[in-house]
Amino acid sequence: MLVLVINCGSSSVKYQVRDTEGSIEDTQVIAKGLIENIGTKIPNHTEALEIMAKNLEEPLHGKTIDAIGHRVVQGGDIFTEPVLIDEDVLQKIDDLSPLAPLHNPAHVLGIKAATETYPGVPQVAVFDNAFHSTMPEHVYRYAVPEKFYTDYGVRRYGAHGTSHDYVTGIAAEFLGINRDDFNGIIAHLGNGASITAVQGGKCLDTSMGYTPLAGLVMGTRSGDIDPSVLTALMMRDPELTPAKMDHILNKESGLLAIAGNNDMRAVVEAMESGDERAKLALDMTSYRLAKYIGGYHVAVGGAQALVFTAGIGENSSPFRALVGERLGALGIKLDPELNSVRSDAPQIISTEDSAIPVLVIPTNEEKAIAEATVEVVNS
Ligand code: AMP
Repeated sequence: MLVLVINCGSSSVKYQVRDTEGSIEDTQVIAKGLIENIGTKIPNHTEALEIMAKNLEEPLHGKTIDAIGHRVVQGGDIFTEPVLIDEDVLQKIDDLSPLAPLHNPAHVLGIKAATETYPGVPQVAVFDNAFHSTMPEHVYRYAVPEKFYTDYGVRRYGAHGTSHDYVTGIAAEFLGINRDDFNGIIAHLGNGASITAVQGGKCLDTSMGYTPLAGLVMGTRSGDIDPSVLTALMMRDPELTPAKMDHILNKESGLLAIAGNNDMRAVVEAMESGDERAKLALDMTSYRLAKYIGGYHVAVGGAQALVFTAGIGENSSPFRALVGERLGALGIKLDPELNSVRSDAPQIISTEDSAIPVLVIPTNEEKAIAEATVEVVNS
């Protein structure tokens, strides 16, 4: 089956075609690409998808797309698993836009455009927060007045769920543990970063919240912050509107604010050449992460593994080492030599006498979306 995986943003479309012929576990990438500048150089999503379809003509050699899988950021508490898209589903994704104002409207445009470009081809929505739907109420609720929750849907939703789910499955398999019996901690560290506590193969808790701003210190996002900072500053400075504050916390904070650069490579290099701001940024980022790891170890009743994934988690051995140094109290020890090996396959980077294994597992959200799409279409 040829599956087109689409990740549609407000101004860009990232796509990949995967051939799931034979084993669903072993999908092959046939083509991939990125179309940018929608709304400026390219008028709209329909034209962007027409360009994509043209780009795909040659690599597809006349074969047709059998199914389309869309990454959808916010499924609220309505969608807890991937679904076949129909008018009703599309409307619900649109209705959830207040919870993901940058993403869901773009997904709706992408789905409509795909319907025009590929009429009759089944389309599946794979929700970024679906994996987190198993969080119990005492974990996902905030201690604020009830009507925030009932009227506005204010609760923890989490994000990166497709990645956390995929990596959980690979980790359990790699360790030879039945997924249903697996307790672990998954650190998805990319430009956006989140950590998930997995209990019995399911999400118990995750660091992102109502929006993807919460939790860890990220490339340009603050992560956890005392909410009074916002109200106090906004009361003091009338120029700090909610929109401005939102922009500052999402785009001008994190590593960028402290170290002056949001790319982990550059920040590590700066630290190694003696830059104090870079050192502070890395101390803050690794400290926050280690604190979450300790908390989640308790939350799941003892994790059987700690897993690093995504851009930083997979590639930055110096950052992993900084985190590892803070985990001594848990008996977790990284092996410097194993930690320095770069691999496309899952690997262990802890010592033999580490209390639990520490793994690096490459994530693959497109593959996970393609697999979920095939499953929904086949059922
Ligand atoms: P992602 O969002 O998962 O694509 O991750 C992107 C981030 O990964 C970038 O902003 C970099 O900070 C980080 N990254 C990618 N490659 C490396 C590398 N070789 N060393 C350190 N950080 C890296």
